[in-house]
Amino acid sequence: MSTPAGNGHAAEPLLEVSDLVVHHGQLQALGAISLRVFPGEVYAIIGANGAGKSTLLRTISGLHHPTTGSVVFDGQDVTGLRPEQRARQGIVMVPEGRRLFGSLSVEENLQVGATYARPGPWTIERVYELFDWMRERRSQRTAQLSGGEQQAVAIGRALVANPRMLLLDELSLGLAPVVVQRIYGMLPQILGTGVTVLLVEQDVSQAMRVASHIHCLLEGRSTLEGRPADVTPDQVEAAYFGLAGVAPAAPGAEGSEA
Ligand code: ATP
Repeated sequence: MSTPAGNGHAAEPLLEVSDLVVHHGQLQALGAISLRVFPGEVYAIIGANGAGKSTLLRTISGLHHPTTGSVVFDGQDVTGLRPEQRARQGIVMVPEGRRLFGSLSVEENLQVGATYARPGPWTIERVYELFDWMRERRSQRTAQLSGGEQQAVAIGRALVANPRMLLLDELSLGLAPVVVQRIYGMLPQILGTGVTVLLVEQDVSQAMRVASHIHCLLEGRSTLEGRPADVTPDQVEAAYFGLAGVAPAAPGAEGSEA
């Protein structure tokens, strides 16, 4: 599933992040991050613990506010919008750790996701078709599900909002490799409905397998970006761990255009 639609890049970017600086109190978590995500892409943010990946995703979804910089979605500046306003524009996140309502049933969690739903192909029924085990367990409390099942419900909850851009924060966290494969195996069906994906992944191999574009962060800075086929394992390793000799990625450089 390497390169979906967005690689001729005739289209305008669906998401354009420019010079984003984000602080948590005194700590600068992101310093002048820029990126462009084109329709149909699977754009992966990689990086070690504390690199700023979640901060970036949460700022794009509206949960953090940048000190400076902008987030433009489909040509509209959404930097000042609240998360639910961005959800109505089509930016929907699956948060790290899933954040389900454990005492509610599977179906009730999916109904929560539909609260700010846009019109579109995704319904609860459609989610039950995507994850075929889910329908018969729709009345079960999500706290009783396995980690992988909970992740599937979290994805379903995001899908019923009918995202144009789905933000996935560390889907693989705490899951067995076989479960991770199964979850990521659903991506083609999701992309097939016209959804663009921006994901954060600590597992570099996983990111390289599914992404059409990778962007590595290190301590809040961009250290590498490009198509997986255009970067070497040594470059990725150096960018990930901050080894000497890594040239900082030029924002919106050739990788975004390729
Ligand atoms: P991880 O993979 O561990 O989640 P990450 O790349 O997603 O890491 P962030 O969670 O974005 O990184 O954190 C970036 C930096 O900001 C880290 O130094 C982290 O300790 C700090 N940070 C993140 N959230 C907060 C917060 N709410 N308050 C204070 N500092 C924070």
